[in-house]
Amino acid sequence: MNIPKVIRKYCSKCKTHEDHKISIYKAGKRRGSARGERRHAERKKGYGGQKFPKLAKPAKVTKKVTPILTCTACKKKFNKPGIRIKKFELVAA
Ligand SMILES: [Zn+2]
Repeated sequence: MNIPKVIRKYCSKCKTHEDHKISIYKAGKRRGSARGERRHAERKKGYGGQKFPKLAKPAKVTKKVTPILTCTACKKKFNKPGIRIKKFELVAA
């Protein structure tokens, strides 16, 4: 699916229509020292290590992508609801 790089929409901070740049949300880097990561590693180690059944056949064939709109005037970011698409491409429009 082609997604435009820039769209013009209402900005609730500027209270007018402004150009918004679109980018796609990416999850941050996982820290090995985070509490949950340490707990997970602790529960997985040793005999009988897998703590939850691995998904053998996932129900969905697509991943959700979350567009982030950034107002070019005030730099405020808006997260749009995630959409399920197989492939996305940011295009100039
Ligand atoms: Zn704005």
